[in-house]
Amino acid sequence: NVADVPEVPDWLADHLRDDGIEDLYPPQAEAVEKGVTEGNSLVASIPTASGKTLIAELAMLSSVARGGKALYIVPLRALASEKKAEFEQFERYGLSVGVSTGNYESEGEWLSSSDIVVATSEKVDSLVRNGASWIDDLSCVVSDEVHLVDDAHRGPTLEVTLAKLRRLNPNLQTVALSATIGNAGQVADWLDAELVDSDWRPIDLRTGVHYGQALHFDDGEKRELPVRGNEKPTSAIVRDTLDEDGSTLVFVNSRRNAEGAAKRLAGVVEETLTNEEQEALGEVADAVREVSDTETSDDLANAVERGAAFHHAGLARDHRSLVEEAFQDRLIKVVSATPTLAAGVNTPSRRVVVRDWRRYDGSVGGMAPLSVLEVHQMFGRAGRPGLDPYGEAVLLANGHDELDELFERYVWADPEAVQSKLAAEPALRTHVLATVASGFADSRSSLLSFLERTLYATQTDEPGRLERVTDDVVAYLVANEFLEKDGDSLAATSIGHTVSRLYLDPMSAAEIIDGLRGATEATAMGLYHLVSRTPDMYDLYLRSGDREQYTMLAYEREEEFLGAMPSEFEDGRFEDWLSALKTARMLEDWASEVDEERIAERYGVGPGDVRGKVDTAEWLLGAAERLAGELDLTIAPTIREARVRVKHGVGEELIDLAGVRGVGRKRARRLYEAGIQDRAGLRNAEKSVVLGALRGRTQTAESILEAAGRDDSAMDGVREDPEAKTAAL
Ligand code: ADP
Repeated sequence: NVADVPEVPDWLADHLRDDGIEDLYPPQAEAVEKGVTEGNSLVASIPTASGKTLIAELAMLSSVARGGKALYIVPLRALASEKKAEFEQFERYGLSVGVSTGNYESEGEWLSSSDIVVATSEKVDSLVRNGASWIDDLSCVVSDEVHLVDDAHRGPTLEVTLAKLRRLNPNLQTVALSATIGNAGQVADWLDAELVDSDWRPIDLRTGVHYGQALHFDDGEKRELPVRGNEKPTSAIVRDTLDEDGSTLVFVNSRRNAEGAAKRLAGVVEETLTNEEQEALGEVADAVREVSDTETSDDLANAVERGAAFHHAGLARDHRSLVEEAFQDRLIKVVSATPTLAAGVNTPSRRVVVRDWRRYDGSVGGMAPLSVLEVHQMFGRAGRPGLDPYGEAVLLANGHDELDELFERYVWADPEAVQSKLAAEPALRTHVLATVASGFADSRSSLLSFLERTLYATQTDEPGRLERVTDDVVAYLVANEFLEKDGDSLAATSIGHTVSRLYLDPMSAAEIIDGLRGATEATAMGLYHLVSRTPDMYDLYLRSGDREQYTMLAYEREEEFLGAMPSEFEDGRFEDWLSALKTARMLEDWASEVDEERIAERYGVGPGDVRGKVDTAEWLLGAAERLAGELDLTIAPTIREARVRVKHGVGEELIDLAGVRGVGRKRARRLYEAGIQDRAGLRNAEKSVVLGALRGRTQTAESILEAAGRDDSAMDGVREDPEAKTAAL
């Protein structure tokens, strides 16, 4: 019973009861028995939706009650604000909750007054590198989705960050939450933690495979599903679920497929909607259209109107939350999603269909099967406790052989063990520099003993390998003058410190420094290309036809690029150079005021991706500016201009105007065309002209004038100048 949990605040039992929680779920009770509220470290490896969040809350609240401070590490930036909102319910009992997002550099000192802080592992890593003082006060750290240490891109940061936090405070309570994995015991050994390893679920889950015209379940039951005409199996499953008044979540392997499936499945749902539902869905669709004026937005709204939706990382955040909410409210009956939805977002559904069990994997250059862990996480979204009698999750087979294969591969299979990816060079390069720069090691031997505290060291059975890769990486960092080596001792150079604080991959820093050193002048394009070439920018893929187009562009604008262009015969390098060029071209379009929608279309990406690239470019150009300053290069002001243009998405002449709060790229252009060229112009302009350029929006005009520093910003009685409006058209 929740009232018997030791060391938690008195109000908690009542609070949980108000939320409908009387008894702990068995894995939660086991966690309490193992001392999670008494400061013990714990690894909880339990299925999706089995109440991991409450285990985290018990740990954090008891730790705070003892006068401590807790940190909750989320795997995705998008989840940070979601978790913060969840923990804010405790503010009424006098706790304070903070979220650390924002830029990598700021120290976040204000967080020193929060009892619970939510942040991504990258953010925590950056705070440690920048010496945020409150990090030393932590008594409890929770790592959500710790199985992601297996992720080649982000896992090593999580791994090293946990090692650093534990080094800073040897008594730190570490609570790691994980989906069910094959080697939870090993993870617990690494973290010196107790272990809860359970398959318990709050609602029954039946799993199986669809083949022919039937669902084949693991308990031997076969459910016939008549397929109409030549429709696809997914449609038949969705219709069958609707007959039982249930919703379906369909996992597919690409954004395009998610969009296509939503469109098709909307046809199935549409026939079953009541008038009331149609009306309510119409409102959601309007809200979707309000978010942005793009093709994706339009496609989404069209599907939503008919009771279906797609969900992927290319959607704007507001789009995502509209879809999640309407699905939870049972208005939207089917969502087709890429696997991002399986991680973290709590959207249970009566049935889950894993339509595609293979997806494109760049590292093998072709299709690769999903891991058992991922498929089981998707399966875990089936069944809403209290609403459905049970959940059902199925894969789709394309032939009789595949029916057996899928049972073997996923339904009967145990999830894989997670494997550290720290020994991969890019990861180690970054973390070795940061470890030395932030004072966790000052020699080769202390560096190695720090790395001994990682999961990698717990797992490796190849003697000498960690030493070998570490030595290679140290040699690289010394050659690029980020580290200095003197016998056994190691120290970061001044530029090495800067690179670590800027949170740059040292290879990105080396590429940028190399490009800038040779240059006396640069165009915006040259700078965009330079930062797009770094490993910190995920480039756009080249599609068929792109190679020719961008090869031509490369020659046309050859003298603008900083650093030597690889020869066309160096296949891989040339290809990388061209995809960086494609990315740079997109940034150039953005900074030349091309419409967001046109950009998304031209480069075949979602609006969310355009923003993502723009943000990364702004950050990398800011870093380049700092490096140029530190190296006394005269090019720093040029970089600044390119950065500000990317930030606001405007041409050179609008930089000043677009910097005024509330103006933005489109309004800046309209004001400019009405003859107002800068901040000073705003202060002196005829109000009627300003109002005209702003299409008669009085309030907007007032707040913009105020932001520009004008004393008399009131617009009472001002009429818009029709000429300004026409000029602006
Ligand atoms: P996980 O993080 O493991 O995927 P959550 O922590 O999001 O799962 O929990 C899933 C749902 O179960 C939440 O809606 C939560 O409120 C509910 N829940 C958690 N613990 C209990 C409990 N002991 N009794 C009833 N409901 C619970």
